[in-house]
Amino acid sequence: MRLSVLAALVFTTASLAAAQTTAPWDYQGKHGALTWGRLDPAYKACSEGHEQSPIDIRGAHLNKALKPIEFHYLAGSVAVENTGHTIEIHVNPGSYIVAGGVRYDLVRFHFHHPGEEAVKGKLADMVVHLVHKSADGKLAVVAVRMSEDMGSPNAVLATLWPHLPATAGASEKVTDMVNPGGLLPADRGYWTYMGSLTIPPCTEGVRWFVLEQELGLSRDQLRTFAALYKMNSRPLQDTHGRRIEANE
Ligand SMILES: [Zn+2]
Repeated sequence: MRLSVLAALVFTTASLAAAQTTAPWDYQGKHGALTWGRLDPAYKACSEGHEQSPIDIRGAHLNKALKPIEFHYLAGSVAVENTGHTIEIHVNPGSYIVAGGVRYDLVRFHFHHPGEEAVKGKLADMVVHLVHKSADGKLAVVAVRMSEDMGSPNAVLATLWPHLPATAGASEKVTDMVNPGGLLPADRGYWTYMGSLTIPPCTEGVRWFVLEQELGLSRDQLRTFAALYKMNSRPLQDTHGRRIEANE
């Protein structure tokens, strides 16, 4: 009896905590991107932060001291989750990048349609955000812009797309080998700047690497994603004078 009361209390507390950390948000409408900062005190950075993402990349400063990003990605099985806001791919440990002398482990990657980062005002059809974390908890996101006019299907998407769960909250394990390296263009030159997560709570202190070269995908691949997520892109944010650097 006592145990079940305790269990009920724990359950209630857990539910409240969950409710507090997950104020509903969306890209458009009543809980759309322009309201995020007001939906929850935890989302304050969304409206008050001065280092928010995404931004329009222009006026980048060439910094020849910036080294190429070292990509150490491994093929493995993945879990494909429909979060209700995007398709999130959870990878096994072992893949990582080294950038600026820091190792960041690849944790997951997901997609936005249309692309979030603009380059001189132009958005790509889609973008993949590869989310990495360092041992001391710092985040680095590699953004690869994808466009249909480049034509041919992308092999990684070809493996993943048959497994896209149609309902929010659903997840599917993919046992076929997926190598995130297949989401990288041949030229890995990049722009880099300090920004934030592009979804609530819009946490800042995120190091962004936006690859300069776009990757192609087929019209069918774009349509398949768009059928699930017609618009899951945050509007461009003010740079507030932030410095954007290019490595080449
Ligand atoms: Zn993202």
